[in-house]
Amino acid sequence: MKKVLALLLIALCGLSLVACGGGEAETDSAAEPKAEALTMATNAEFPPFEYLEGEEIVGADIEIAQAIAEILGRELEITNIDFDAALTGAATGKYDMAVAGITATDERKQNMNFSDDYYTASQAIIVMADSDIKVATDLEGKTISCQEGTTGEQYLLDNEYEIQSFKTGAEAVTALTSGKVDAVVIDNAVAKALSDKQNGATVVLDEALTKEAYAIALQKGDDELTAEINGALSELKASGKLAEIFAKYELPYDDAE
Ligand code: GLN
Repeated sequence: MKKVLALLLIALCGLSLVACGGGEAETDSAAEPKAEALTMATNAEFPPFEYLEGEEIVGADIEIAQAIAEILGRELEITNIDFDAALTGAATGKYDMAVAGITATDERKQNMNFSDDYYTASQAIIVMADSDIKVATDLEGKTISCQEGTTGEQYLLDNEYEIQSFKTGAEAVTALTSGKVDAVVIDNAVAKALSDKQNGATVVLDEALTKEAYAIALQKGDDELTAEINGALSELKASGKLAEIFAKYELPYDDAE
């Protein structure tokens, strides 16, 4: 009998140890430091880099950001806000980064960090298909719409054009199709995407007004995350993943970029 009791005690102990062990394991995993989410601001009005498909934010930039987050082992958390707010949000550190087809200009570099470049772009002109504007010099004396806070707007201001600025490129195109302006100036790939939606009413002129490079914006001085993102970007370049993403969105891309 004593023997049986002893065995029972041992068995109970064993059980409680297991239970204890299990309990501990649970506490352990709960306490395990999880990498914080990588927060990103964007403006989903810039197809095919970022745009809405129903409720979902999709596009080349989104896939690039997701691939970077994966390499860094962090969850990606995207916030969709105005373009200028996305820039300010990254500059002030409200978000870890802004990915929004952002041109890394010298002026912006004074207020924020930039990753290495990942895409080469330019400013392009959209006009009505029957417009008398055929080349950039025809823009003289015309009224041109653009997107607020962008390098396109800056180009037009620098060259003293009469402009109408809108929150989104789509609104800038509506100003053109409704006859309020004579042309739109916006990033080339976006010009094509927005013009393609007009069923032939508009065309994109085959002339680049600028040469620009897109990069990821971060808080000024956040060199650690900038370096991590650069590491991830070069991995994505080397593996061909970046080229694959651009191909998916029909974005011309030269591996040498
Ligand atoms: N590349 C342009 C800029 O940085 C436009 C970006 C955008 O509108 N999302 O200003």
